[in-house]
Amino acid sequence: MQIHRSGSRPSAKGPAQYFSGTVRIDPLFEAPAPARVTSVSVTFEPGARTAWHTHPLGQTLIVTSGLGLTQCEGDSPVEIRPGDVIWCPPNNRHWHGAAPNTSMTHIAIVEALDGKTVDWMEQVTDEHYQAAARSAQQRQ
Ligand code: MN
Repeated sequence: MQIHRSGSRPSAKGPAQYFSGTVRIDPLFEAPAPARVTSVSVTFEPGARTAWHTHPLGQTLIVTSGLGLTQCEGDSPVEIRPGDVIWCPPNNRHWHGAAPNTSMTHIAIVEALDGKTVDWMEQVTDEHYQAAARSAQQRQ
């Protein structure tokens, strides 16, 4: 049995290449092979978000605090809240992050395909993000 004690592993900063704004990543688990599931807790400061990306085997997000936004390409952006569980299908272009004025923390769970869990793409522009936030709020 392996136990990762709370506080025993360092937080990491979300790299500017893949995130806009201030993002903290805390490791949760990385199951040893042949298992291939990994999980992190990600905290986005207000306005922070991922770049556009896909996951080869999809992704589950569990919101644990704050108020967030997510959008699959071609779909309307939506607000996400603590307790919400979001499934993003394989190879579906999307992004996720905080609301403009409120931070958001989610647990992310992914499985690796050939050792890869994500394909990163371009940043979500400020214009796109702000329009998404307005659109999601109006449809509450
Ligand atoms: Mn994702």
